[in-house]
Amino acid sequence: MPDLDAKLTDIYTEVLKRNPGETEFHQAVGEVLESLGPVVAKHPQYADAEVMRRLSEPERQIIFRVSWVDDAGRVQVNRGFRVEFNSALGPFKGGLRFHPSVYLGIVKFLGFEQIFKNSLTGMPIGGGKGGSDFDPKGRSDGEVMRFCQAFMTELYRHLGEYTDVPAGDIGVGGREIGYLFGQYKRITNRYEAGVLTGKGLTWGGSQVRTEATGYGVVFFADEVLKARGESFDGKRVVVSGSGNVAVYATEKVHELGGTVVACSDSGGYVVDEKGIDVELVKDLKEIRRARISEYPGLRGGARFVSDGSVWDVPCDVALPCATQNELDARGAKVLVENGATVVAEGANMPCTPEAVRLLTDAGVTFAPGKAANAGGVATSALEMQQNASRDSWTFEHTEARLAEIMRGVHDRCLETADEYGTPGNYAAGANIAGFIRVADAMLAMGVV
Ligand code: NDP
Repeated sequence: MPDLDAKLTDIYTEVLKRNPGETEFHQAVGEVLESLGPVVAKHPQYADAEVMRRLSEPERQIIFRVSWVDDAGRVQVNRGFRVEFNSALGPFKGGLRFHPSVYLGIVKFLGFEQIFKNSLTGMPIGGGKGGSDFDPKGRSDGEVMRFCQAFMTELYRHLGEYTDVPAGDIGVGGREIGYLFGQYKRITNRYEAGVLTGKGLTWGGSQVRTEATGYGVVFFADEVLKARGESFDGKRVVVSGSGNVAVYATEKVHELGGTVVACSDSGGYVVDEKGIDVELVKDLKEIRRARISEYPGLRGGARFVSDGSVWDVPCDVALPCATQNELDARGAKVLVENGATVVAEGANMPCTPEAVRLLTDAGVTFAPGKAANAGGVATSALEMQQNASRDSWTFEHTEARLAEIMRGVHDRCLETADEYGTPGNYAAGANIAGFIRVADAMLAMGVV
């Protein structure tokens, strides 16, 4: 049970009752409500208008069947989701996740987090998330295409550049966005570029969108290090995962003078004291769609560990970039014992609440995902801007905008944490600043 202000306990109890079994969603709501005590004390208008209660109930939840035919001619049935959580600040915006673990509770936790993340960017985007329990691993391109087409054949009616604009997440990268966009265009007979982000560069995509979440996490962590009087130069860094976020976080750490000595996938982790070879990981994961266990066979001096945790590898900075609840109390204790000073979340909610408590109690600076990984969605919003004006910006210009946005998110977190009596607490700052912008918009729009 999170430590809640009396005014917020009822709301949390109601969330538990109304959403049985959705543990990740409970965790995400509890974590935000825990930060809002000082806000309800200072601004009673939010509680009077039941803003927190309204925010914890999605505006709309769509669940649908996705039937498709595999390469062997067998009919497969998956479940599709889109949770349109909150549109006070703009069209619903948030990625699609294709992973066998996807169920309503995961989509709701992600959609809920997305509201505050999108608000923190200062851009005109609401919060939503979607996905399916479809597992793209081991599927041919043809199977992935037929699945995406079947998925979009239902979802398209709920989307639109002013309504709901999905993007990628775990299991959904450039290939899947292409198939989804192709089917949307076919069904609607409209080239509505702004309906999906993460598109290819030759057909409406934005420079830096592929790199944005990983680069953004490192820009954010760099600001955190600067606030501590440090920098990435000479730092040992451990990154979990080896997907989109992990790869580009690794690339940017190396550009800033740090060394990523380990990364992972769900089968184990690799340690490479010379520094992870980013081009090799890109080739393995993006082109060959292979496992990280193949890395040592292609690069001397590296080793693969199939049992144990990537957090056992000593580091100064840890960047969890794989999935929710991947860094638990044990991992946090080892990081503290090994002298880590900063943990910045590239993934959504990768640290368990116990891990966050242990890290912060030990003086490790903790940067929560809803702030640190906001660069992906912020660059998606830049893609929407370019689509709306039929423009396309250079890599340098777009990366400079991303860096500026991440600095803004960082400063907003710190200033808000100060203002509400929790100096240096990025999690509280992110929750409160994200909440206030949405809450004010909801108040202005009345009870809807
Ligand atoms: P990818 O699918 O590109 O990569 C995911 C990586 O995490 C893979 O290495 C995968 O390993 C690993 N992973 C996934 N599930 C598990 C698991 N249950 N246990 C261990 N490892 C796992 O996804 P992304 O890089 O896009 O996303 C990673 C995280 O970042 C997610 O939490 C996502 O929500 C978050 N995020 C992504 C954004 C984006 O723009 N892509 C934006 C903001 C947040 P394996 O291949 O073995 O499954």
